[in-house]
Amino acid sequence: MSDAESPRFYITTAIDYPNSRPHIGTAFEKIGADVQARFRRMEGYSVHFQMGNDENTIKVSQAAAKQEMEAKPYVDEMARQFREVWSALELSYDDFIQTSEERHHVGCRRFIQAVYDAGDIYKKPYTGQYCDGCEAFKTEKELVDGRCPNHPATPLRLVEEENYFFKLSSYADRLLAHYEASPDFIQPESRRNEIVSLVKSGLQDVAITRKGFTWGIPVPFDPEQTIYVWFDALLNYATAVGYGTDPERFAKWWPADVHVIGKDITRFHCALWPAMLLSAGLPLPKQVFAHGFVYNKGAKVSKSAGTAVDPMDVYKQHGADAFRYYFMKECPFGGDGNFSEERFAEVYNADLADNLGNLYSRVLTMCAKYFGGRLEGSSAIDPTDWRAGLDLAVLVDELRRLIGTFEYNLALQKIWQEVLAAANRYVEVTSPFKLAKTDLEATKGVLVNLAEALRVVAILIKPFLPGTSREYYGAFNFEGARPWDRLRYADVLERPEGLELEVTAALTQGKPRPLFPKIDTRSAPAR
Ligand SMILES: [Zn+2]
Repeated sequence: MSDAESPRFYITTAIDYPNSRPHIGTAFEKIGADVQARFRRMEGYSVHFQMGNDENTIKVSQAAAKQEMEAKPYVDEMARQFREVWSALELSYDDFIQTSEERHHVGCRRFIQAVYDAGDIYKKPYTGQYCDGCEAFKTEKELVDGRCPNHPATPLRLVEEENYFFKLSSYADRLLAHYEASPDFIQPESRRNEIVSLVKSGLQDVAITRKGFTWGIPVPFDPEQTIYVWFDALLNYATAVGYGTDPERFAKWWPADVHVIGKDITRFHCALWPAMLLSAGLPLPKQVFAHGFVYNKGAKVSKSAGTAVDPMDVYKQHGADAFRYYFMKECPFGGDGNFSEERFAEVYNADLADNLGNLYSRVLTMCAKYFGGRLEGSSAIDPTDWRAGLDLAVLVDELRRLIGTFEYNLALQKIWQEVLAAANRYVEVTSPFKLAKTDLEATKGVLVNLAEALRVVAILIKPFLPGTSREYYGAFNFEGARPWDRLRYADVLERPEGLELEVTAALTQGKPRPLFPKIDTRSAPAR
């Protein structure tokens, strides 16, 4: 299929405030989106995976001032740091928008003008409780004990200004009709129920401009005002793919297939954003998926509370795949998860070092030891014995369903409990180390089976652990039949024919590279 014929899939993550570096909570979201992007590519979609930073905020200009920097060089440097982390974690994003970019400014001005022309924007004086953490006015209903539930430590300020307002209140009925007609629009179900009841209880018009700020996007019909945080930030999803600057590109990618966001910002994505799009006469995104939070030993990850973990600390010690595996396996994407060094070491040792890594190193070691890395005559051997009791076609269908609905932890459990378990059982039953002493031909048959098991594993884990997948798949000469970067999920079921297997390229001085060296938990510092 050529790119033009492929169904397209446009996926976005929330854009981040660059007033501090990414933490494991932000990384959790991006990895979850990356798994989906990688999976969809394997399913034959032409994917556009969009990420970015949310730069037009007061918080950001304050952070720049603190470092005695101008805002623009500051946000550029932060964008560089964010992208460095995202690349280290193997996020396969296609575009990274900075909202200080011209393409975003142009698109935003065009959009707000369209909404203004549609009669949905008016000016009025406003007094309200303002949360500096959210950079948003809070209604009485949203407060818990008189404080913002997301920033209970930040006192609210009474702010009075004359601003432009968006007539959100007039969209409640149309939004409810949309939720009804498109039950998948808000996922998971619990989040959907929250939003439906929020909108049913009535929506208020929202301030969409602020007066007296120089950093930000000026309002085209009133240059004294700048477009305010959410109205500007949400628009990145449209401006990044050409709204207001590249109509052809915009027509190709819009509407988005899914916005992956945190559960604390569903209100903006499921009510304000679709209302804005309706007003401007644009189609609505197909889905908003709200993931849960990651806690650090049970505490909310936050810079100020000292519970933020820099993803680079974990990455530098254990690599991208171990990091990705932990969060996708331990933390249900639609729910909440927990991080601790102890649990990380447990999961890593059991699932990666002892299981996935061990299987690989045993197979390669035996190939090297008994056959010099070349399994001659292997193309004549039927490699299906290892799958006793395992119906791969059924499993692949089930995995496709689970990954497509963001149930990553269940997908990984299945791969480990069914495929890796079958391969390990096969090693136990055949005991190739013992067999090699009496029957080399039979040992070769066992190794061909295990090579096939590793090929299947390499394909199944590709969206989750891309580095390991590449290494496992490339260790045998499977690439000769089908290149790794063109693998489809369904290739699990189609073993390349007529390959003489060899692993020599994956050996260093006759040994496989240790991929997941065990974490020594005894020498870990007491916590
Ligand atoms: Zn807040």
